[in-house]
Amino acid sequence: MATAPDSTPSSTASEASPRRPLADGFVRGLAAIVGRDQCLTTDEELFVYECDGLTLDTVRPEVVVLPASTEEVSAVVALCAEHDVPVVPRGAGTGLSGGAHPVEGGIVVSLARMKAVLEVDVENRLAVVQPGLVNADLSKVVAEHGLFYAPDPSSQLACTIGGNVAENSGGPHTLKYGTTTDHVRALELVRPDGRVVRVGSKVGPGIGPDLVGALVGSEGTLGIVTEVTVELTPVPEAIETLLAIFPDVVSACRCVGAITLSGLVPAALEILDRRTIEAVEASVYKAGLPRDAGAVLIIELDGADCELADQVERIGALAREAGAHDFERARDEAERLQFWKARKGAFGAMGRLAPDLYVHDAVVPRAKLPEVLEQVCEIGDRYRLKLSNVFHAGDGNLHPNISFDRRDEDELARVIAAGEEILRLCVDMGGVITGEHGVGTEKRDYMGMVFSDDDLAAMLRLREALDPDRRFNPGKLIPTTRFCAEANPHARGYDRVPFDEEVTPS
Ligand SMILES: Cc1cc2nc3c(=O)[nH]c(=O)nc-3n(C[C@H](O)[C@H](O)[C@H](O)COP(=O)(O)OP(=O)(O)OC[C@H]3O[C@@H](n4cnc5c(N)ncnc54)[C@H](O)[C@@H]3O)c2cc1C
Repeated sequence: MATAPDSTPSSTASEASPRRPLADGFVRGLAAIVGRDQCLTTDEELFVYECDGLTLDTVRPEVVVLPASTEEVSAVVALCAEHDVPVVPRGAGTGLSGGAHPVEGGIVVSLARMKAVLEVDVENRLAVVQPGLVNADLSKVVAEHGLFYAPDPSSQLACTIGGNVAENSGGPHTLKYGTTTDHVRALELVRPDGRVVRVGSKVGPGIGPDLVGALVGSEGTLGIVTEVTVELTPVPEAIETLLAIFPDVVSACRCVGAITLSGLVPAALEILDRRTIEAVEASVYKAGLPRDAGAVLIIELDGADCELADQVERIGALAREAGAHDFERARDEAERLQFWKARKGAFGAMGRLAPDLYVHDAVVPRAKLPEVLEQVCEIGDRYRLKLSNVFHAGDGNLHPNISFDRRDEDELARVIAAGEEILRLCVDMGGVITGEHGVGTEKRDYMGMVFSDDDLAAMLRLREALDPDRRFNPGKLIPTTRFCAEANPHARGYDRVPFDEEVTPS
């Protein structure tokens, strides 16, 4: 049986941050900026900041600060620059790739208190918000204007807009509306020396390189986002949410292919497999999904009322042709919301299956879904793991979820080995190693699976142009540490790049 490579998140105990001791007076300086009660230093306070949603990878910070304004963030970052202390920004900590904890030491800057909606510009369909605003709260605030914020990660009741920007988050409605990057017009950010800068504008891309595009998805490595200008979307006139019930997940995948090939563009195409349905139906998220189904496909259509009836009929026919033995439409808004509660609560429901959950994230070309799903299930069986699938099928964005118990070392090793094999499979099928959860520490050492040395060197150059001392979220996203190449055959030697030397492609 394969064993776990040391590079992937396999530590179960909280490790001490591998860092120099903080200088005398540094913590007092932080407290003077944010206030003593917003500067956390005790074990009890720091415990919850030692990881994000990837709970296998834990490093407890020594200090967490919770600034209340851009000025406070700027002063904190300037003090860190003076003392050469790394800075890790953090939103709600729902990330699933090990992004918001200080793997190379330093402090965590939580943006959770900066959660105001600063402006709603209804005419131009824009909002200016602080980064700690919870995603779903923005749609609630703008609903009275007939608008909503389209990117809707399943974690949207908790995750923040700042975290979404940093991860370029998607969600079930990415299929029609795109990911976060398609909805961000401008950013305010704090640079590593504490300066505050603005990029982008309310009127769209400016002249020159698309800096907003480069910053979205940079996982806190290029600056701390302190303000976000986002586009809002009109609430559609009508919505139809349908449920196609299949004997197995492979035929549900075929149906997804048939729908997209037909030219229809649903707002969402989401698959839940049998194990997911069982977990959901046994939980508070239950929605009356058929427990004996092999898979269900949630199809959401939106648009003008007059268009939808015809689309429902066409999709019903396509679903039956693909092998659906049942096809339902949500009878009312309450049932529609219940379907979505089941979908978005699925990860939570899996807490019933085992103490730990590893949520994988990869993308494959949509046409490969049936073949890939078959092989993903085979990998799960071969490694004797409890693997379930709930995913954004319309985007080809898989989430194979492995339920396990980290206290069982043999099982943990199998979880990590199976995860690596799944990633390799997706890449071999023409896919990539993440669709929306980002790279963080989890996939940093797998970047070489999809990027060449030259690609990685170019990414490092961009990073070093904006953060020459690599003080923002070091150890994340791009393989640069000693640790990676020794442990992982896919890493390409970026460990050998000394901290202060120029990076040249090999
Ligand atoms: C149950 C569940 C369901 C999920 N479903 C989805 C989904 O459907 N789609 C999806 O894309 N993701 C999903 N996720 C993953 C996660 O919610 C997203 O990645 C989300 O964007 C993280 O937001 P956060 O506020 O929790 O950020 P955190 O986890 O706190 O941080 C994430 C990264 O952003 C950086 N960061 C945070 N704030 C800032 C800032 N202001 N400036 C600069 N960098 C910053 C951090 O350093 C870190 O690298 C899910 C997670 C869970 C637990």
